[in-house]
Amino acid sequence: MSAALPGNWHPRHRAPQPGPVVLLDLDGVIADAAHRQRFLHQDEPDWTGFYAGVSADGVIAAGRALAASVAAELPVLILTGRIDDVADATRDWLDVHGIRWDMLICRPPEEDDDARHAVDYKREEIARLRALGFDPRLAADDNRKIVAMYEDAGIPALYIPSGYYDNSQRYDGGV
Ligand SMILES: [Mg+2]
Repeated sequence: MSAALPGNWHPRHRAPQPGPVVLLDLDGVIADAAHRQRFLHQDEPDWTGFYAGVSADGVIAAGRALAASVAAELPVLILTGRIDDVADATRDWLDVHGIRWDMLICRPPEEDDDARHAVDYKREEIARLRALGFDPRLAADDNRKIVAMYEDAGIPALYIPSGYYDNSQRYDGGV
């Protein structure tokens, strides 16, 4: 692997070798972001407030166990919708809380918070991963639309209910 990784990809140590990988979402799967959801559930979402609290997130024990359970030869890639501005704080959080991870992928800094839907962002990151030889074999997310996207992309995906999303409308085949 050359050093030519996208700027929003942050290896923990050395860049993972191309090949099979596992993709895990962070907020609502490993990080307990419930205390920050109130910043989004208002007329004008307060993204600054939302991201300011990431270091105070608790750990979702089942998510940490899920990451720890991945076979050692499979790199764990944390594919999060968090903006790249909080990549350093996120790396620290992952290490402080003993999360197994090999590379963190955040939303590129040139993206506005809501310039692309999270589904499109993650779909495009999958395409970039595959173009560099990474082969996602399993994914987990707390957003049903993203789980559906993974399935459309041929990646088996676990849905982890966090309660952060309105799931009153069940997945009907669209995104
Ligand atoms: Mg999430």
